[in-house]
Amino acid sequence: MNHADFWVVMFLAVGLKLPLIGLFYVIWKAAKLGDQAHAEQGSTPVSRMALCGYCGARITIGYDAGRVHQRAAGIAARTGQAAFDVETRLVREELALPDRYPVEPTRCPGCGEHTVWAPIEALPDSAAIALEPLRPDLN
Ligand SMILES: [Zn+2]
Repeated sequence: MNHADFWVVMFLAVGLKLPLIGLFYVIWKAAKLGDQAHAEQGSTPVSRMALCGYCGARITIGYDAGRVHQRAAGIAARTGQAAFDVETRLVREELALPDRYPVEPTRCPGCGEHTVWAPIEALPDSAAIALEPLRPDLN
């Protein structure tokens, strides 16, 4: 093997594989950032409210999984029923409430249009306390 052949072999064996190191590094970094984002997001979903972009009808999407899980565990402990069975029933009950949907419906139940849902946030505690005397008694 002469000198030129040696460098050709080196180029093919090592040089062409250097970009792979960069590629593996990028994939590793992306996976790590993905895990981090997933951890920050929180594991238990909560219900959120949205308004119809056309008529302002309010719907609730999803349910508070943490609260349902706790309730189910409590009922299961008291009655001896299987926890997953109780939880399934509770989730079904939650989603059967009026204006409650597992995912955003494409058509608004209020006006029947293909709509866009505008998410709304619950008030912060300080604002809720300040508004408490003005709130009509709904119960
Ligand atoms: Zn609507």
